[in-house]
Amino acid sequence: MYPPPFEYVRANSVEEAIRLLSGVEGAKALAGGQSLIPLLKLRLLSPPLIVDIGRLRELDYVHYGEWTRIGALAKHHQLEESPCPFLRAVARRIGDPQIRSMGTVGGSVAHADPYGDWPAALLAADALFVVRGPSGTREVEASRFFKGPYEADLAQGELVVEIRLKCPPRGAYVKFSRRHNDFALAAVAVAAEVKDGHILWARVAALGAADRSIRLKKTEALLAGAPLKPDVVAEAGEAAAKEAEPPSDVRASAEYRRALIKAGVKRALAAL
Ligand code: FAD
Repeated sequence: MYPPPFEYVRANSVEEAIRLLSGVEGAKALAGGQSLIPLLKLRLLSPPLIVDIGRLRELDYVHYGEWTRIGALAKHHQLEESPCPFLRAVARRIGDPQIRSMGTVGGSVAHADPYGDWPAALLAADALFVVRGPSGTREVEASRFFKGPYEADLAQGELVVEIRLKCPPRGAYVKFSRRHNDFALAAVAVAAEVKDGHILWARVAALGAADRSIRLKKTEALLAGAPLKPDVVAEAGEAAAKEAEPPSDVRASAEYRRALIKAGVKRALAAL
């Protein structure tokens, strides 16, 4: 289907984009277009104005250091060869090469798809999202950013400009999809620190465990300070399955997703 008619403006700076987006109720930013364009073509959205931010070079970067800083317009593929193994593992499982070349990390978190890979991964990484809008810049913790399915903590006119995280000392991403790199049925992201065979801390996030990506806090509590041994891994899998409240839909039943989350936690911990 053809998209409904809309005004199109290409922004030349972040400030200009914010000004344009704040001026028109329902206006949408266009980054990689890999989620927005399908929504327009399905006529699920009808924004009066589309502000193209896709060529704003100032948002297209990845800097590594104590903090990894990912510009909102960094493409998934820019993280496929990242020196941070956790980011590499996630980026490589997103869609196909065309999607990874066009789709952006900022677009992915702003879109807050309950089955998108970055929201779950960035929850486990305890990332910070830098959001800029008409009233200035604010930082939002990943744990507060995803408010519901397709609902991020963004007001009209606000843009995600940067994602900040510390590359976890150890990390794993286990994704289950019907075909390799389809959208996930369920996935588990684990970030952790392990010393002398013990898990000092672990953050466990899952998608397919609720109506949005969530942290599995009871599973995390069980892992903190525990030895990284097969019985602990098995117990954590059980705990995650109990803690998850997966939805049922045409792609998978709640029961099946629960089993995937259990297996995902076990495989991710084994990978640590
Ligand atoms: P766009 O489509 O341009 O925008 C998406 C939404 O975010 C829009 O509402 C837009 O206004 C808003 N937005 C964009 N950037 C910003 C910003 N900086 N600040 C505020 N709002 C912003 N994703 C996965 O995670 N895993 C997959 O396996 C996967 N497979 C896919 C397969 C196919 C065939 C397709 C078409 C998409 C797939 N995707 C998958 C989605 C893909 O990762 C998208 O790139 C991503 O969801 C959105 O990024 P984008 O840059 O394309 O955003």
